[in-house]
Amino acid sequence: MIVVMKADATAAQIEHMADHIAALGLKPQVIHGTHQTVIAAIGEERPGLTEVLEPGEGVEKVLPIMSPYKRASSELKRERTVVKARGLEVGGRRVAVIAGPCSVESEEQIVALARRLKALGATGLRGGAFKPRTSPYSFQGHKELGLKMLATARAETGLAIVTEVMAPEHVPMVAEYADVLQIGARNMQNYQLLQAVGDSGKPACLKRGMSATLDEFLLAAEYILDRGNPDVMLCERGIRTYEDHTRFTLPLATVPYLHEKSHLPVVVDPSHGTGKARLVVPMSRAAIAAGADALMIEVHDDPEHAVSDGAQTITPAAFKQLVEQCRRIAEAVDRTI
Ligand code: PEP
Ligand code: MN
Repeated sequence: MIVVMKADATAAQIEHMADHIAALGLKPQVIHGTHQTVIAAIGEERPGLTEVLEPGEGVEKVLPIMSPYKRASSELKRERTVVKARGLEVGGRRVAVIAGPCSVESEEQIVALARRLKALGATGLRGGAFKPRTSPYSFQGHKELGLKMLATARAETGLAIVTEVMAPEHVPMVAEYADVLQIGARNMQNYQLLQAVGDSGKPACLKRGMSATLDEFLLAAEYILDRGNPDVMLCERGIRTYEDHTRFTLPLATVPYLHEKSHLPVVVDPSHGTGKARLVVPMSRAAIAAGADALMIEVHDDPEHAVSDGAQTITPAAFKQLVEQCRRIAEAVDRTI
């Protein structure tokens, strides 16, 4: 951590800050420059130190050297994390595809769709049994019944089940059926939920909050990792901006940025990211080109009649095309699908 003193900071203020740093258990090293003095605070950076040092008299700013997240950071773990759940592997050379309806609607639907998706190259089956809906009057999901339907689809196909858990008290129940626990965008900063998922021992797919910065996103992942659960994938699903031509804005620079800052694998969800079915295939191609480790795609055999998110849901035929095209893009960036 570097404490930059103001150009007119007095010798007494500099000495006071050096003493303050020492009292915090760090070693102060005062460096007098031509215009300004800086004090290097040597030792382990702890969360909250910036806030303690910044109000000091004569202080211009405090610059942390290490990132605020530790376990999620590539500074502390260089080798990339590969999250494995049955046949679903996210973070290796092979790009994974997680596909399925927004909501689990019926057993016949999910089983038939799972068979098709598996045949077309998916290794993970998504589908919401607990649905976070903007309106309390919208379909809220089949809950445990929906989880049982997903379990049947897994028994039939072997696909790994990725499904959302919305409340800490539901984690044991959802974990009984799911292979990957999804934490939705609206819950990215539900710290008790993050901790409960961390304690579950199940891999997690953490979706980015729609107005979360990437530091906040990584700190949310840190909550799961900090409970001793190393299996976290980060999902970029689009953020709120002034753009109104798409449901959300899908920032793909997130992918290389997160790869630089973190060892955790990155999933891209172009379905929620665009909200428009016709944009899903092109943005999937772009996500693979940007280095995504997995795609999460909403697919339904009859999107027009899907109970949720039909407008952003593609058909199995479009999904087939998506996989074929992404396979070619993957090859160009030394990956496979
Ligand atoms: C979903 O995956 O169906 C979902 C609700 O996503 P998000 O939390 O990203 O809105
Ligand atoms: Mn959805």
